[in-house]
Amino acid sequence: MKLLIASGNHGKIREFAEILSQYGIEVCGAAEAGISMEVEEDGTTFFENAYKKAHTIAQLSHTPVLADDSGLCVYALCGEPGVYSARYSGEGATDEKNNALLLEKMKDIPQQERGGKFVCSIVVCFPDGSFEQGYGETYGRILTEEAGQGGFGYDPLFYSDDLNQSFGEAAQEEKNRVSHRARAIMEIIPKICARLAVSDQK
Ligand code: IMP
Repeated sequence: MKLLIASGNHGKIREFAEILSQYGIEVCGAAEAGISMEVEEDGTTFFENAYKKAHTIAQLSHTPVLADDSGLCVYALCGEPGVYSARYSGEGATDEKNNALLLEKMKDIPQQERGGKFVCSIVVCFPDGSFEQGYGETYGRILTEEAGQGGFGYDPLFYSDDLNQSFGEAAQEEKNRVSHRARAIMEIIPKICARLAVSDQK
């Protein structure tokens, strides 16, 4: 069973590969499959962006495609960076610049008000236009300085309530047990396995 991942983010593709391999699903990044099209993430919700990416690439590739849209929502910043997580620091945003901006915006926020969550919306679109969706969240707080060098994005600044360490310090398998992405996948895995088994037989 094979699933195309509509993302160029290697950190994410690696996480999807590890989680989905447990269910016998092999993944392949869209670029590796020869599809280099950038889909603009101009939706106002995580679901809208995930659906747009999965639908566009499924129509183009004629295969089932998984896309996610995920981000960090900080309560004290009214949900920022939210759907803008990847481009929080504007044009030419990088993980380093985004993390620096987040720390700057939170410099006066006390310990007890630094709560936040990662959220993830996943959509798998099929070439016939049908789709399945899943949603997951994971909770924690924003550190005052980076801890650990693992993961990607905001991981070194996110202290997980489940793991009692930052995602940057956690081993990949530990993060995969509690992450927003793993939880979103768990929600749709039975339907996806059933649908992929059918589409493999065609
Ligand atoms: P997307 O590729 O549009 O979904 O953007 C997601 C952005 O949210 C990433 O570039 C990261 O900045 C952030 N993000 C989402 N999930 C994670 C995670 O598991 N760890 C760290 N940052 C994440």
